[in-house]
Amino acid sequence: MHTSLKYLFIVLLLSVGIILKAQEKIEETTIVVKNVNIITMTLENKIIKNANILIKGKKITAINGVIPGSAKIINGKGKWLIPGLIDMHIHGFADINYGSAYPTQGATFLVDHQDAMLPYIANGVTTIFDLNARTENFAQRNEIIKGKVIGPRIALAALINGGNGSGRIANTPSDGRQTVRLAKAEGYEFIKVYSDLNIETFKAITEEAGKQNMKVLGHIPDAFKGKTEEAFIPNFNMIVHAEEFAKQSENYSDQDIQKFVRLSKENGTWFSPTLIVIERIADQARSLENIKKLQGFRYIHPLMQNKWLTSNQYHNRTSPEFIAYLERMIQFNNRLVKAFKEAGIPIVAGTDAGCSGVVWGYSLHDEIELLVKAGLTPLEALNSATRISASWLGIGDKIGTVEVGKYADLILLDDNPLDNIQNTRKISGVFFDGKWIDKRKTDKMLSDLAKRNLKNINKYDWKKRKEL
Ligand SMILES: [Zn+2]
Repeated sequence: MHTSLKYLFIVLLLSVGIILKAQEKIEETTIVVKNVNIITMTLENKIIKNANILIKGKKITAINGVIPGSAKIINGKGKWLIPGLIDMHIHGFADINYGSAYPTQGATFLVDHQDAMLPYIANGVTTIFDLNARTENFAQRNEIIKGKVIGPRIALAALINGGNGSGRIANTPSDGRQTVRLAKAEGYEFIKVYSDLNIETFKAITEEAGKQNMKVLGHIPDAFKGKTEEAFIPNFNMIVHAEEFAKQSENYSDQDIQKFVRLSKENGTWFSPTLIVIERIADQARSLENIKKLQGFRYIHPLMQNKWLTSNQYHNRTSPEFIAYLERMIQFNNRLVKAFKEAGIPIVAGTDAGCSGVVWGYSLHDEIELLVKAGLTPLEALNSATRISASWLGIGDKIGTVEVGKYADLILLDDNPLDNIQNTRKISGVFFDGKWIDKRKTDKMLSDLAKRNLKNINKYDWKKRKEL
């Protein structure tokens, strides 16, 4: 070998060695939040005041343990640490083909994954549950797992409907069962049932999903109107939207509420009321100005901003009767939440983010606040967005509380959320899978994104999306 080549070779070997060492070092660095008040959110909700919490790699390794000299220290004095929040009902924003695809074409509208995940990061939403997932959501999730994008953990449900629309449609029990088996084979983790399923197909889907070890959640199909009790079958594990019950009630009576409570309790069906979505539908039915005022609106993609402002299905059908109908439903929803709470049925926080007017990330804080307004204590509302949700997903041993051995999905807050639930918004920094991101960093990312969106605001027209 030529001497200079030999030299180069040695230098290369050495630098590989240094890089490997450096990587080891990154993995080994312990991060400590010092003197922080920890709201553990465990069953007994132990609050550990003025504690040190050690995070190494992705996990919490000790609370009040020995701090290594090499540790990176975050000052937690006077601050409060809670588990990362879980939004149990979102519709993810991912690549899509709005037009007619041809082989090799792929998506025509491409999403910057980091931009799409940023509102979750800024709001401490460390886990999301997509209730109508597509192949592209798997791809997006893998980018996060690879570490190319910072973002939440993502659970994926396949939606099955009846009728003759698009998507996964099943109108016979055997089609329903086969659709479940295919979803399982494709890697979906849960089944979401939808409004137009007929009774026999709904029952077959729910039973087959049970056999496949997949939980079922979703709407109460409209076909059950007048015989609501028949929908409560084994493995129908969670009803999403309070209005699913409202639709099953003629007069919003207390008797009906008590009946829904009894059916859910007896069947072990949990409840995700998504109070925020009806509030937002009412807001935009009243005025589109309410859309522009939404917290976080400028961080959503210009195409979505355009859709919500120019093709707003709720505003387009607005009338005094529609608004009155929504307002009555909001009252009913709140009574329902209170009754479910009193009966001890687990209530799960979800938002329907991605629906017109429901901003990803930001809306979960709205939902938690609305749960408190409906009668939950701040602790119960926080529980519904942490431990209870993790438990429904079957990952209660991994996330949802602040405990040694769990993944470090955490939010550092400036004030105690148990004193005032609005304090969940006072975020000083977050841990996503052990990675610390402080508020300065997310603020900078958000302002960059808002500037970019503003620059591109006129480039996107929802009505011309097929031409993208
Ligand atoms: Zn939804």
